[in-house]
Amino acid sequence: MHRIQRPLESIVRHIASLSVAGGLILLSGAGLAEDAAALSHEAHPPNVILIIGDGMDDQQITIARNYLVGASGRMSLDSLPVRSTAQVLTVDENDPSLAVYVADSANSATSIASGITTSRGRVGTSAGDDKDVKTVLELAEQKGMKTGLVATSSVTDATPASFAAHVSLRICANPSQMVDVSFKGIALGGCPDDLIANGGPGSISEQLANSSVDVILGGGRKDFDTPTEGGEQSVRELALANGFQVVDSGAELAAVPPGQRVIGLFGEGTLPVRTRGEGGRVAEEPDPSFLNGIHWYLGSVELPEPMRCEPDPEYGDTPSLGAMTDAALLQLGYENTNGFFLMVESASIDKQAHARSACGSIGELEQLNEALDSALAFAEANPNTLILVTADHGHAAQIIPDKSLFNQFGAPVYTPGRLVRLITPEGAGLAINYATNGFMMEEHTGTQVPLLANEVGRGKVPGMVTQPEIYGLMVEHLGLGKTD
Ligand SMILES: [Zn+2]
Repeated sequence: MHRIQRPLESIVRHIASLSVAGGLILLSGAGLAEDAAALSHEAHPPNVILIIGDGMDDQQITIARNYLVGASGRMSLDSLPVRSTAQVLTVDENDPSLAVYVADSANSATSIASGITTSRGRVGTSAGDDKDVKTVLELAEQKGMKTGLVATSSVTDATPASFAAHVSLRICANPSQMVDVSFKGIALGGCPDDLIANGGPGSISEQLANSSVDVILGGGRKDFDTPTEGGEQSVRELALANGFQVVDSGAELAAVPPGQRVIGLFGEGTLPVRTRGEGGRVAEEPDPSFLNGIHWYLGSVELPEPMRCEPDPEYGDTPSLGAMTDAALLQLGYENTNGFFLMVESASIDKQAHARSACGSIGELEQLNEALDSALAFAEANPNTLILVTADHGHAAQIIPDKSLFNQFGAPVYTPGRLVRLITPEGAGLAINYATNGFMMEEHTGTQVPLLANEVGRGKVPGMVTQPEIYGLMVEHLGLGKTD
């Protein structure tokens, strides 16, 4: 019965404690109301479970629904009663008054976590003047609430990091990536001002190891098996010294006693995904005939062969997002009368879309839906739990006709991008194209994104919000005071 935070017997005991020497104290009307409110708070403290699908725009949700349950089927995601829209806001680093219309995960997670609008790449810091900004997680900690971060990426990745760390660039994930970071010879920058030697808080993994977060689960082992800045010990040893238990497998996680602060690292970096295209296939370019190269109206085109998704052999015994969410809720709910804030991220909807793997994204969205099931079950036993589901930004994938409607004109019309053609379990053709660029990976797109909530959000979540306003909704539900 781990889902019930405050068993009925203890509530009864609490009521019994209101009586003295067998005689019930008579309270004034106001006092009774106050006590009832306090009792209700203690019985059902406010919790927020924020579920973020990285890159989970309406295209991604529709692709997953079509493939997982069919066009007439419904996922838990589809059944949430409160349905709103979140506008993604980003500003230019050099001119923060100037809008940028496509976000990255760092700036959008920082918006949701802290209620500000910032520039791409920033984690918990403001555009231009590089100030650290207080997050909803930190406010919850200050109020004595428990907190947790769960992700299928490295726990140092932009989305989880933005709730508990502050660096000027997301690439500063561990102490070896703080200065002059480069990738394949391309200079990416660094976070020299955030070095401990320069009076800063250190890299993201060091900040997590020094944090008061109760539960941190995901990938990113390599960022913790690195020496601390200027030190002999690893970041993992720093976390152990700070009272965390650090585990590396689902079995070890299951053995962690309730109430113990824990970091679970279940992979070196991003966790493996559950599904992939046949034999690892991703989107492929249509292959036009020689004649079509002479004129678009001539010749023919060969489209990629249709396929089905298959289990990804790398996934193995990786804990699922739903299992990690269950474990986090078990820890956070244990003997907790103050409430908690938990962020759960399905990270590879985005990462697999960058790699043009529709099947990879579908498996990750399925995982998000299972994490939502876990959250909904918890909320049923703990009625003051606000569940919010949203995305950080849009992505490249879009559903197009499996065969172009314009083929009837006799021309071999085809997408200029790359294409995945799936055969869904209901036997229909589902075509998904990726065409933001011709580079090694696709880009984000600039659409507004869904914001969904359980019944607790009814009357609280407006029909349209900006991402910084999501911060306000969470702060208000948790009773964390002013939102500015
Ligand atoms: Zn991305």
